[in-house]
Amino acid sequence: TIGMIAMDSKGNLSGACTTSGMAYKLHGRIGDSPIIGAGLFIDNEVGGATSTGVGEEVVRNVGSFLVVELMRQGYTPEEACREAVMRIIKKKPATAKNIQVGFLAMNKNGDHGAYAIQQGFSYAVCDSKKQDLVIKGKSYY
Ligand code: ASP
Repeated sequence: TIGMIAMDSKGNLSGACTTSGMAYKLHGRIGDSPIIGAGLFIDNEVGGATSTGVGEEVVRNVGSFLVVELMRQGYTPEEACREAVMRIIKKKPATAKNIQVGFLAMNKNGDHGAYAIQQGFSYAVCDSKKQDLVIKGKSYY
């Protein structure tokens, strides 16, 4: 998945995501990316979130919606992403060891963060001062 969260010059948020799907997926599988609240969720009052990885686990936890709701409660983007990852790990610890799920989020102030189950999840930031700044997201493992 490529997930993007954007803020315009007036502070309005938007987002988009793509998907590669999963290898050996069942015919007709949809995944999380096209499901609002799972692979992507934006609330212009709070922030936005998007996910990558095994979509089934993201759908089960309504992951991107969860991240945005946690930011509404005061979590930083990274804390919110981490909590969404922890829900997946707590429910299925054995499965989580062998899969990747990562979340990326930005709040209404433009603060951003990410968290993934496995290492290697990084994201790029582009604004008027910095272009293509690559940030290494934290991970559980
Ligand atoms: N999240 C996507 C899916 O489950 C896979 C991906 O990361 O592209 O369909």
